[in-house]
Amino acid sequence: MDLHQFISTPKSPSGSEPPEHSPDVVVITCADARVKLQELLPGLSTFEIRVAGNSVSPGALSSINYAVAHLGVQQVLVLGHTSCGAVGAWCDGIADQHLLDFIKPIETVMSAAGYRPTSFESPTQAAAANAIGQAELIMNSDSRVGEMIKEGSVQVLAAVADISASSPTILPASSLI
Ligand SMILES: [Zn+2]
Repeated sequence: MDLHQFISTPKSPSGSEPPEHSPDVVVITCADARVKLQELLPGLSTFEIRVAGNSVSPGALSSINYAVAHLGVQQVLVLGHTSCGAVGAWCDGIADQHLLDFIKPIETVMSAAGYRPTSFESPTQAAAANAIGQAELIMNSDSRVGEMIKEGSVQVLAAVADISASSPTILPASSLI
């Protein structure tokens, strides 16, 4: 598809009001195009934060805070996935300067949990450990969402999407390690 042609083709404005913004869940997931949330979470309205390796940067944390404090979202899902190139880069010890901004946050949570790239039997296990680590980072953050999780008004979950399956599935990350 030619993107320039797509966005420059005139479309008639609908003229209607935008729908109310009331998502069901905040999803922090990877930028990987194969992670298709509408197939993985059918019927749910998702407030999506995407960055390679689904890591929780300061900007991501601020977006989560906005969703829970201003949009009333009560569920936060950190969703890793199988065959994740970002987690794979950490596992392979890649130190490319251009990639460090997403590899470092993975390294931070992995080393905090005592994991090394050799700790895992499979890349999927590493993706699960990263998802759990990023979820713990949200929970333990000095932020509104951290407070709300501790109060019990917001729930945070870590999971891994199997993007290789013919029908997409999501498994709790803790079941994979
Ligand atoms: Zn990925």
